[in-house]
Amino acid sequence: MLLAALCCLPLLEFGGNGLHGWSQLLVYPEAFRVRRSHVDAAGVLHEWDDELIGEAWDHGPLILSWADVQADLEEPDAGYCVAVHEMAHKLDVLDGELDGTPLLPARWQREWARDFQQAYDAFCAEVDAGRETAIDPYAAEAPEEFFAVASEYHFTAPALLRERMPAVAAHLARFYGPSPLL
Ligand SMILES: [Zn+2]
Repeated sequence: MLLAALCCLPLLEFGGNGLHGWSQLLVYPEAFRVRRSHVDAAGVLHEWDDELIGEAWDHGPLILSWADVQADLEEPDAGYCVAVHEMAHKLDVLDGELDGTPLLPARWQREWARDFQQAYDAFCAEVDAGRETAIDPYAAEAPEEFFAVASEYHFTAPALLRERMPAVAAHLARFYGPSPLL
């Protein structure tokens, strides 16, 4: 019940279509390991383990670590919410591409792509320069992670996001509806 409510928080404005194409929510007691593999340009197979607290499959389940969901709830304004993060990936990939831009009306999508790209580039420059960043530096991993991490701040530290990334904050407020913490 609590998990369903958390996962639906990002859908208040978007609606039930955000759940399109998948139906399973898996909950593990703690962070979990997944086996990764990659064949590099020279044809060499690399394998390694990743430890995750959440994962969103393109057409499959959403997976969450219960210990981390609870930690988020204990500090609801700390900028972290793994349930929101993974739901952002689910919304992002609805248009077939995980790229940090969800399915939006054409004009808004162009504005979103432009504003997010600008903010992402500026953020990556800060991270590269070794400066202390306003939001979790994990957001510099990729445009889709930037969107997912910014979404966490929309729901948990909206004032900070608005102050440091006003254009991004405005898009997210329009996309998700006003933050419950404002
Ligand atoms: Zn992510």
